[in-house]
Amino acid sequence: MSGQGKNEVWTPLKILQWATPFLTQKGIESARFDAECLIAAALKLDRLKVYLQFDRPLDPAELAVIRDFLSRRSKHEPVAYILGTREFYGKPFKVTPDVLIPRPETEHLVEGALGFLKTLQVQEPKVLDLGVGSGCISICLALEGKAEVFGVDLSKAALKVAEENAQNLGAAVQWREGSWFSALKEGDPAQFHLIVSNPPYIAEAERGEMAPDILDFEPQMALFSGISGLEAYEMIAKDLWQRLLPGGRAYLELHGTRLEAIQKVFGGQAWGLEVLPDLQQLPRVLILKKSSNS
Ligand code: GLN
Repeated sequence: MSGQGKNEVWTPLKILQWATPFLTQKGIESARFDAECLIAAALKLDRLKVYLQFDRPLDPAELAVIRDFLSRRSKHEPVAYILGTREFYGKPFKVTPDVLIPRPETEHLVEGALGFLKTLQVQEPKVLDLGVGSGCISICLALEGKAEVFGVDLSKAALKVAEENAQNLGAAVQWREGSWFSALKEGDPAQFHLIVSNPPYIAEAERGEMAPDILDFEPQMALFSGISGLEAYEMIAKDLWQRLLPGGRAYLELHGTRLEAIQKVFGGQAWGLEVLPDLQQLPRVLILKKSSNS
């Protein structure tokens, strides 16, 4: 928004027409959509409602917020962090740079896990979520799965965000700080009907291929998992079998290119295996089933 005359009148339409090429030039792929979202949020409107006010002159305070939002996006800060919120499974989640931004792909995990919970003939099945981040998985399972949910994370700051989300959305989740299964306390269930995780699964070697939007902003701890990208699965695999009740299941998110290697990590036990694809038909969720007579 530089180069304009001093008394120039800015409208949402004019800013959008300026911002789209500006963000594109800065390497933002979804420039128009992002600009619409940011302008709408700055004006406290739904994205599509901005169109009804396209020719309204903006006041200096509105312009200042829009300018700040667009400048941050031009430096590749994700829209979700700029706005402090992201929708997941139809619910608004608070996000900060302490937590991974919930991804639509993870909704496949939630949907699959909810389907499994429905088949159980138990009241309040016990669920464990390893690595909760914003709490998006734990909270959806607590709200819609009628389950008793325990959510673990190594990051105190992430747990604070998750707790706030649970409060805002009216979900009861028991949060535990610590590393994988060892975060559970005395008195917590020793075994669960369902264990879920969207663990970090990017290999160190892939760092160079990552978009700055992710690499420079999202928590490294939530993204990277050692040289191989498999360390988190290896940690989970150590205790997973004994932590599941007979007939219990684990739903683990993964990246399609690593399915075989991940299956190998869990090769030590007699799991029943199933894979859920995402919308691109790539493997996205690995289901590990412990038979009811084991
Ligand atoms: N469970 C959270 C999510 O799916 C966080 C995952 C993570 O930090 N790797 O968004």
